[in-house]
Amino acid sequence: MDRIGFGYDSHRFAGGRPLILGGCQIEHARGLAGHSDADVLLHAVTDAILGATGCDDIGSLFPDHDPDLAGAHSATFVRHALDLAKQKGYRVSNCDVTVIAETPKLGPHKKVIRGNLAELLEVPEDAVSIKATTNEGMDAVGHGEGIVAIAVVGMAAC
Ligand code: MG
Repeated sequence: MDRIGFGYDSHRFAGGRPLILGGCQIEHARGLAGHSDADVLLHAVTDAILGATGCDDIGSLFPDHDPDLAGAHSATFVRHALDLAKQKGYRVSNCDVTVIAETPKLGPHKKVIRGNLAELLEVPEDAVSIKATTNEGMDAVGHGEGIVAIAVVGMAAC
C-alpha cells in the first residue's frame, strides 16, 4: 500500500556560514543558522520520509543539542530516514519540494539540486521536482530573514 509524507522546515539566515540547499553549496552573502549544515531542503525531505512511514520527527531523531551532530551533513539524516523506511518495507516513489525564499534565486541551481536529490533518494530525476518561489515580500521570509522548505514524498511498498 502506498504512503504519503509531508515535511516542513525553516531556518534563519546567518552570516559567516555557507548556504547549503539540497546538498549543494550556493553562492550567497549569508548561509542558514543551524546545528547541522542547516540544509533546510533536506530537513523537509527527511521529515516527509519519516512522516510517510510513521516514524518520529527529525528533531527527535537528530536533536540539536547532540554534539556529534554539530555541522553534520544533512544527507546523513535523509539516508537514516530511508533506512528506517526500508526496514518497514517502503521506498521513495517520488518527491516534490517547494523552497520559499526572497534570495537567492534558485533557478540556476535547481537542476543540480534535483540530480543530487534523485541520487540520494535512489529514484529517477523525473521522480523529483524542485520548485522555488518567493513570499512576495510578506512576513519574515518575505522580509529576507530566512528560507522555508516544504516537501511531499510518495512511498511505495518495496
Ligand atoms: Mg532544520
